[in-house]
Amino acid sequence: MAEIKSEKWKKINKSKKERPEIQEYKDWEELSPIPISLPIKGSMGETGDWRTFRPVIKEDCNKCGICWMYCPEGVIIRKEDGSFEIDLKYCKGCGICAKECPTNNIEMLRESDIKDG
Ligand code: SF4
Ligand code: SF4
Repeated sequence: MAEIKSEKWKKINKSKKERPEIQEYKDWEELSPIPISLPIKGSMGETGDWRTFRPVIKEDCNKCGICWMYCPEGVIIRKEDGSFEIDLKYCKGCGICAKECPTNNIEMLRESDIKDG
């Protein structure tokens, strides 16, 4: 189990009754670890097989992690250098990451317009 680093979150997690009405955090690193189920291959194949739009992270990404936090599939991966990459095998192309990116650094490209793929 991942260790909770934030002192504030340790306190928040302690008891439901002690939770404040408003929970503030300054960046994604303060978020408490939560269990998520990652996508797997289904009867229609891997999610990336039927995606219509592909998210592409552009060069000016500031590594804030907002896209990682919002992706409902958990397919945005943080690399060792702090940058993020998208697992296109299971990204469903919903565009939430692009919508939430505060610096507009995720472009949604139509799959049929991409040569490699
Ligand atoms: S398009 Fe949707 S599924 Fe794909 S990385 Fe962005 S938020 Fe996640
Ligand atoms: S939300 Fe945008 S700027 Fe932040 S890590 Fe993701 S792509 Fe980069």
